[in-house]
Amino acid sequence: MVCETLKPGVECLFMKKTGCSYNGGKCYTIVENCEGCSKVVEFETGKYCSSFPYPAQKWQKGSCSMSSHTKKSSQAAGQKINPLKASKRSAGKR
Ligand code: SF4
Repeated sequence: MVCETLKPGVECLFMKKTGCSYNGGKCYTIVENCEGCSKVVEFETGKYCSSFPYPAQKWQKGSCSMSSHTKKSSQAAGQKINPLKASKRSAGKR
C-alpha cells in the first residue's frame, strides 16, 4: 500500500489498512553513513532510505550491502589476488 505516514506517496510493503506495520509504526531516518547514497530520498519529514526502513541496522555489521557510494571499497576487496591462483598463473608462464 502507499505510505501515509513518513514517506507519503511511496509504495511500501509495511503499509496496511490499519497503518504502518513496521516496528513502532514508522520507519527510521538515514544514518550518517548513508549520506551520499543514491537510495536516500528526502521528504518533508526527513531523509529516508528507499530500500530499508531501518538504515542504522544495515550498518551494524559493517557496510550496508545496498549502498551505492561504498561499492568501490567492496570492489577493491573483490579484486584481491588469490595467492594460490597467482602462483599457479606465474608457474604456467615459465
Ligand atoms: S541503501 Fe544502505 S547506505 Fe543507502 S540509504 Fe539505504 S541504508 Fe543507507
